[in-house]
Amino acid sequence: MQTRLRENLDRVRDQIAEAAQASGRTVDEVRLIGVTKYVDIETTQALLELGCQDLGESRPQQLWAKAEALASYSPHWHMIGHLQRNKTKRTIPLLSVLHSGDSLRLLKAADNDWTGDAPLATFIEVNISGDDAKGGFPPADIAPALRQIAALKRLRIVGLMGMASLEGGRTQAQKDFAGLRELRDQLRSDCPEEVSLDELSMGMSHDFDLAIREGATMVRVGSSLFEGLS
Ligand SMILES: *Cc1c(COP(=O)(O)O)cnc(C)c1O
Repeated sequence: MQTRLRENLDRVRDQIAEAAQASGRTVDEVRLIGVTKYVDIETTQALLELGCQDLGESRPQQLWAKAEALASYSPHWHMIGHLQRNKTKRTIPLLSVLHSGDSLRLLKAADNDWTGDAPLATFIEVNISGDDAKGGFPPADIAPALRQIAALKRLRIVGLMGMASLEGGRTQAQKDFAGLRELRDQLRSDCPEEVSLDELSMGMSHDFDLAIREGATMVRVGSSLFEGLS
């Protein structure tokens, strides 16, 4: 397993470096989040041992179990899926980064439940595709909410997070990512100074190269890392 996992990780890292170079950026401007939601604790541990310290989970219960079992590795946990408000109290203190800040209510709950000394790095999740099944702020709702978001002192807003449409393949994905970057650029023109929008969390296994070309600073990659493992 370790050999195959290492090959997969090397390949993904090479692809990240290639896409970064192609867009005139350096590889250390893009952080790889290894999404471990498909795999067990043992495989997650193997990924940590290969040096992938940034791990993403979309289900709180799995994050709790892995955070406990793998505490000695001190991974950086990234919450990337919808967080119900009755799970924030237990989940938020475990995080390094909250990607799925998908409503003002959730952001307020996260602000309330964060226990760290420094503010929690948090993304505003945007529903770029307009897909009903997807979470996130409708793009037009962000500007009016920015002052209230800026008032949440225990959160440090770092940027926008989004997912490409399910339909339309890579062509549509590229448009969605460009749209998220453009939205970010527009929001910057009238943004409270407490809110930074420097980061873009976008791109998954099938489209992270496109996301990097459109300015992604964090890519969330799962299935490509675990290909061929069983
Ligand atoms: C599952 C998931 C990913 C990773 O998807 P892959 O296609 O397996 O790389 C990324 N982001 C979110 C929000 C996810 O739920």
